[in-house]
Amino acid sequence: MKSEYQHRKEMIEIGKRVHQHGWISATDGNFSVKIGDDRILTTPTGVHKGYLEMEDFIIVDMEGKKISGTRNPSTEIDMHLTCYKQRPDISAVIHAHPTFCIAFSVAGIQLAQCLLPEVVFTLGSIPTADYAPPSTDQVSQSIEEPIKEYDAVILERHGSVTVGKDIFGAYNSLERMEHVAEITYHARALGNARPMTSDQVNELIKIRTGLGLPGKRVTCNDCNACSKFSNCGSAQKSGAMFQPQSEPEKPKASVTPGVSPELLELITREVAKELASLSATPR
Ligand SMILES: [Zn+2]
Repeated sequence: MKSEYQHRKEMIEIGKRVHQHGWISATDGNFSVKIGDDRILTTPTGVHKGYLEMEDFIIVDMEGKKISGTRNPSTEIDMHLTCYKQRPDISAVIHAHPTFCIAFSVAGIQLAQCLLPEVVFTLGSIPTADYAPPSTDQVSQSIEEPIKEYDAVILERHGSVTVGKDIFGAYNSLERMEHVAEITYHARALGNARPMTSDQVNELIKIRTGLGLPGKRVTCNDCNACSKFSNCGSAQKSGAMFQPQSEPEKPKASVTPGVSPELLELITREVAKELASLSATPR
């Protein structure tokens, strides 16, 4: 079993990595590790997580009450406690603000689980939790359900929550999720984010099961990362690699409200007459 000293050292290291990648800015983000039945070692509020020091950490109980430490825990500690309550199998939580993941959530695009084999192998689907104002109880409530089943969840317009058996496991899920988001971004920019077929996904699930990897549930219901260029759901069902979506409906010509067709015709005629007289005027 790792000592508390070791856990502090590891969290300092993770803080540096997360900051170097640009997945937190200023005093954003918070990390925690379960070091006992009722003891959570966590990062303090108001401190830059890229420059953590050994004495910065706090220990809280499972109700969030401070047991030791001179600083104070984050207002988002409840979110961590929710993860531990929902997932007895995990011992570490990372909350960060990864750029591409947040950008996708702002754009209203759910990350596709059917674009990359590594996602099917590891994270399964990548759910986006409903928007909740940061630092409120609503954040904990928004992740209660998705975190039960998945190790990586995007918080709409806010960030990410990833969990793991240790802090490196939680970090790996964060790195993987943001990597997928970045690749998806580039694929969409190139103009063709093609989903894998259901046969390809099923084959990967079979390989995963054969290798004895735990894996997560893969569904295509909420995904729309590839829907700009193809219909992800129906492509899965039909087994087609790429299905162009029907042309988006063109907006109908709008008529200024309150202007009758007769009046509009009159105005058009008058303007046309005016233009004709202008072009006829000798210079
Ligand atoms: Zn946050």
